[in-house]
Amino acid sequence: MNEARIQKTTAEDLLGKLIGYDSVSDQSNESISRFVADMLEDLGFRIEWHTFKDANGTTKVSIVGKRQGMGNSAGTTHQGGVVYMAHTDVVPVEDWYTGFSGPFEATLRNERIYGRGSCDMKGSLAAALKAASKISESNQIAPIYFIVTADEEVGMKGAKQVDRESDWFKEMIENDTVGIVGEPTELRVVHAHKGAQGYIVRAKGISAHTSTSEGVNANYQLIPALGPLLEQRNESESNPKYRNSDFDPSTLSWNMVLINEPTAINVTTSQAEAQIFIRPMPGVDHSPLEIAVKRIAADHGLELIGKDGVSPWGVSPSSEWVQTMLRLTGETTSQTVCYATDGGVLQRLKRLLVCGPGSIEQAHRKDEWIALDQLHRGVELYERAFREWAC
Ligand SMILES: [Zn+2]
Repeated sequence: MNEARIQKTTAEDLLGKLIGYDSVSDQSNESISRFVADMLEDLGFRIEWHTFKDANGTTKVSIVGKRQGMGNSAGTTHQGGVVYMAHTDVVPVEDWYTGFSGPFEATLRNERIYGRGSCDMKGSLAAALKAASKISESNQIAPIYFIVTADEEVGMKGAKQVDRESDWFKEMIENDTVGIVGEPTELRVVHAHKGAQGYIVRAKGISAHTSTSEGVNANYQLIPALGPLLEQRNESESNPKYRNSDFDPSTLSWNMVLINEPTAINVTTSQAEAQIFIRPMPGVDHSPLEIAVKRIAADHGLELIGKDGVSPWGVSPSSEWVQTMLRLTGETTSQTVCYATDGGVLQRLKRLLVCGPGSIEQAHRKDEWIALDQLHRGVELYERAFREWAC
């Protein structure tokens, strides 16, 4: 696709093409990344290509694009430019159901585009690509960057690699580039979000048919630890030091899931796990809970596996870039949200905010959709933002 063709392509056509790629997190996102990189290259962007193999040996790709701009930036305050951030992976489609089309067939109905990722967050990416195509490089006096990652939905490994390895991300940090994480916020400006942290407390037994005495049931080692773990959960809910009233809910949202393997009733359980997941918040030190979980595991002879987490993120709502984005959106007050984004990983970039089309209510659903109006307003807003910080 050359530049002229992107300019003639509508945001909904771009979104349709993006939805057409099966980029569920357990699949390779190489081909959709190639498609996005080709579009950016046609618009004059250069591309950094970052790959890794996930735990199943599947190739994952994150790209960083940069268009320098041809204008003279001498004497301007816009030196760092602006970066738009998105992910190309989407959540699974096993439960997909609309009654009229499959997860990878973009379908326009009732002023909505349906399809997996339409809302989270291929709609946002289509809007940003369309917005970039409306700006001529000759008008740019500061860089426009894109960071488009893999595996955001499953541990944010793409963003972690970009944070570690990207020369252009380093350049953005040095130049104080403004970062827009385009996750769906209904185009409201978000100045803080929660993080994510998981722990697995695991007991091992021996699996055998219960008609023999060969088995050792792992549950009998795990069960005594569950009471103390529940106490920690209650503590996390009731102690004010684990709350931040800027968020709703204001708690760490401790969740616990018990997993047995195997699950046959006539076979002893060889592995029993309590999986714990919390959503850390800015200004809340949850380390006493983590220490307590470690102690409980050790006291009961259980294995503790700390899963790779994502930091919470927050900036002051009065930050100049948040206020500027509010002016561009026409809103007066910025918000907080309770989910994590790649922004938690990429927060070495100080001037960060989250703002994107579509509602998180419509993300991850069996009939995920984005309103056409949100998509179009997203194009307009991103164009204004790129002009504000790069032209
Ligand atoms: Zn997302």
